[in-house]
Amino acid sequence: MQLKTILNRVQKFKSFVYGAVRWVEDSSPPALEVELHPRANGQAVCSGCGRGGPGYDRLPVRRFEFVPLWGMKVFLVYAPRRLACPRCGVKVERLPWALGKHPLTEAYAWFLASWAKRLSWREVAEVFHMSWETVFGAVEMAVLWGRAHVDLSGIHSLGVDELAWGRGHRYLTVVYQMTPVASGCCGSERNARSRRCCASSVGWARKSQGQGLALLGAPRMQRSGGLRFICSDMWKPYLKVIAKKAGQAIHVLDRFHIMAHLSKAIDEVRAQEARQLKAQGFDPVLTKTRWLLLKRPENLTEKQETRLSDLLRYNLRTVRAYLVGSKN
Ligand SMILES: [Zn+2]
Repeated sequence: MQLKTILNRVQKFKSFVYGAVRWVEDSSPPALEVELHPRANGQAVCSGCGRGGPGYDRLPVRRFEFVPLWGMKVFLVYAPRRLACPRCGVKVERLPWALGKHPLTEAYAWFLASWAKRLSWREVAEVFHMSWETVFGAVEMAVLWGRAHVDLSGIHSLGVDELAWGRGHRYLTVVYQMTPVASGCCGSERNARSRRCCASSVGWARKSQGQGLALLGAPRMQRSGGLRFICSDMWKPYLKVIAKKAGQAIHVLDRFHIMAHLSKAIDEVRAQEARQLKAQGFDPVLTKTRWLLLKRPENLTEKQETRLSDLLRYNLRTVRAYLVGSKN
């Protein structure tokens, strides 16, 4: 069986044919070069609009790295045609194996991206003798493809939150499916118990731009009536984007964040009133009461419990704030 026959089985391109296969000794490790030619009478397809057009000229030969074989690098070798497209002008033809001007074939990029799921990107780069940036490019291609083909059916509730990422104040806005992911979805049983990340956007500021919902296509889900609940931490830009993009969904406020806001409010009232009492010369009843008021009642020590019930007898703004907060 010839190499060309194998290639035609694993990677056939409709309008192109495989030509001579060369063994290249002068590279380390040795490489195989496989020529590609346009099929006879095959018309070049414009990379701009995807339509055929009359030929113009040919560019110099380019090498596109393909999936390695027997530890050897494999390159597809082809001189791209240019065509005089009636709509776009003179353009390079679309090559079904290439990723724009990238020297990797699409098949090899997918191969690397699949290894990058199992190994670190640095390890993949080392094993396959390439730069970290090349592996990054392959993963980026796979992620962009995944985003464009994400299946949003069956998602009725979403959560929006941010994650600290890397060093410094770098944050990611993450939009995720709240309900358990259906078994078998995303091709893994493990996902049945996990929450599925649906979209993310990077931000350098305290919070990223809250674009996740738009990325996810929340408006599309809303129109189809699929999106029914959405949960967030009440950060204003999230509230705005949710009202705009998913107004029909019920906005659930996260209990953890409500409690955090209440605790902050109680603490502000306490600090202000403590300063006021001190300035007016009253007994410092609020001194060292911060944790009495902020801790969960069930976590208080016996001594703290007694102090808290003493404190609650005073007619203070802090006490009223505590009582309002603890009812929630
Ligand atoms: Zn065109």
